Amino acid sequence: MEKPHDIAIIGAGPAGLIAAEHLATAGHRVRVYDRMASPGRKLLIAGRGGLNLTHSEPLEMFLTRYGTASDWLAPSIYHYPPQALRDWGESLGQATFVGSSGRVFPKSMKAVQLLRAWLKRLEQLGVTYAPRHKWQGWHNGKLRFVTQAGDIYAHADATLLALGGASWPRLGSDGSWTDLLTQEGIAIRKLRPSNCGFITPWSDYFSTRFAGHPLKPVALTHEGITRQGELMITARGVEGGAIYALSSAIRETLENHGKATLQLDMRPSMTTDSLTRKLDAPRGNKSLSNHLQRAVISPLIIALLREAFPDIATATPAALATYLKSLPLTLTATTGIERAISTAGGIERSELTENFMLVKKPGVFAAGEMLDWEAPTGGYLLQACFSTGVMAAQGIERFIAD
Ligand SMILES: Cc1cc2nc3c(=O)[nH]c(=O)nc-3n(C[C@H](O)[C@H](O)[C@H](O)COP(=O)(O)OP(=O)(O)OC[C@H]3O[C@@H](n4cnc5c(N)ncnc54)[C@H](O)[C@@H]3O)c2cc1C
Repeated sequence: MEKPHDIAIIGAGPAGLIAAEHLATAGHRVRVYDRMASPGRKLLIAGRGGLNLTHSEPLEMFLTRYGTASDWLAPSIYHYPPQALRDWGESLGQATFVGSSGRVFPKSMKAVQLLRAWLKRLEQLGVTYAPRHKWQGWHNGKLRFVTQAGDIYAHADATLLALGGASWPRLGSDGSWTDLLTQEGIAIRKLRPSNCGFITPWSDYFSTRFAGHPLKPVALTHEGITRQGELMITARGVEGGAIYALSSAIRETLENHGKATLQLDMRPSMTTDSLTRKLDAPRGNKSLSNHLQRAVISPLIIALLREAFPDIATATPAALATYLKSLPLTLTATTGIERAISTAGGIERSELTENFMLVKKPGVFAAGEMLDWEAPTGGYLLQACFSTGVMAAQGIERFIAD
């Protein structure tokens, strides 16, 4: 390298920090800015439920998880694949393991040790951190930040924007960058909730009695796609792994039709016939609830049946079995983006070169969740943030070398 350059990285999440590591390793002077007091806040929260770093399935299958963005992200993910991310974790003392579902986690299951070791490495590489610096666009060619001490202007030979999406805004990424980039004429696809919960009109009784109760395993079907997992009842609707996996398709249906109906199979391991036989035992003078509970149908499921089918008291065993295998669930809206796991939408691909430089702002790159892709949970979110961060770092190196 001829002489070090000043690189500004705005956003201290996984995408920004991995780019900082690559660029500082290459000998550049890297300064990371973030509006929060400490880095990696969302990464830390992601580690609260067991940090799912990536997934172990074959890469061809892995890439399909990004839907229409698969071909766009493929070069980054081939360049920095799940194994590279696992090796990197191990290099920080956080060896990983593959869970029964194929998902990859650090053995500690947490992000805290990983982040601590990572920040130490970055410090040793000379990366500096500017906390409580809220980026507010450009002024006379310099980066403008609002700080407690007033406005600050910074020069950079190249800049990486890694500002995240708009979910969980209290952790820092609030999507306010969309206005700043729109002012620069950059096309942004509207930010919307992804891997999110949905609203359904429960009765007051059902919502009060069952909010916070999980249903598992269930299989949910929407427009021919079925996903199995857990469904959590909330006061106003549903959330949980099974519905997150369908959230992109359900959100589209809601946008186009105002409501979406799912089929809920509450006995995915049984056929309708075997369930009918189970329910066909003589009922005698037992109440319907007692009869169903003897067939190991929980009070929550019985209440769900009553919400959907007012006539269940007189339903035949065959009809009950059919209801249990395909209960219609009507969803009327997504829960807010602030409660979603991730964000759909972002900087449109037509605005970016193959290594994520903004075509209209040479020297300014973008990576991570602020790009226009989405994926289900399963480690696909973090993997794409890391891979695009590495790809953007490489783009910055090339830009500087030119
Ligand atoms: C509860 C939860 C659990 C999750 N679990 C997982 C999981 O197990 N596996 C997985 O793959 N993914 C998971 N995710 C998603 C994953 O955490 C995100 O996709 C990832 O953190 C996005 O990385 P990023 O670097 O693009 O952005 P972020 O991590 O959001 O970082 C962006 C940074 O930019 C800063 N910033 C934003 N605007 C400004 C501004 N104007 N000026 C200065 N700084 C700014 C923010 O403060 C933030 O620090 C989870 C998310 C949540 C909310």
